[in-house]
Amino acid sequence: MTADCLFCKIVAGQVPATVLYDSERTLAFRDINPQAVAHVLVVPKQHHEDAVSLATDAAGLLAELVTAAAAVAEAEGIVDSGYRLVFNTGPDAGRTVFHAHLHLLGGEQLGPFGRH
Ligand code: AMP
Ligand code: ZN
Repeated sequence: MTADCLFCKIVAGQVPATVLYDSERTLAFRDINPQAVAHVLVVPKQHHEDAVSLATDAAGLLAELVTAAAAVAEAEGIVDSGYRLVFNTGPDAGRTVFHAHLHLLGGEQLGPFGRH
C-alpha cells in the first residue's frame, strides 16, 4: 500500500466503493463520476504507477486487468453491445489518479474518440 493513494485505500477497504469484481490480484469498482451508463475502473491490488510500469514490471498483472474487465463486461451484460477500455497517461489525457487503472466504458453508444 502506498500512503495517500486513493486506489490503494479503496483496495484496503479504507475508502468505500461499489465493488463489482474482486480477484486475488485485481479489483473492479464503479467510477464515482461515470462518463457512460457503465463506467468501471479495474485496478491491480498492488500499487503500480501506470500502465507502462505494469507492462514493464508485472506484464501478467496487466493481462489480468484486461481479463477482469472482460468478466465485468460479461456481468454488466455489455459483451455483445461492446465497450471501450482506456488507460489515461499524463496531463493531456486528464490523468488524475496515479495508481494504474483500466477504464471500462459501455452500456450505450459511446461518443467520438479523442479530441473533445
Ligand atoms: P484518470 O483521469 O484516468 O486518472 O481516472 C481517475 C478516475 O477515478 C476518474 O474517472 C474519477 O471519476 C475516478 N474516481 C475518483 N475518485 C474515485 C472514487 N473515490 N471512487 C471511484 N472512482 C473515483
Ligand atoms: Zn496505489
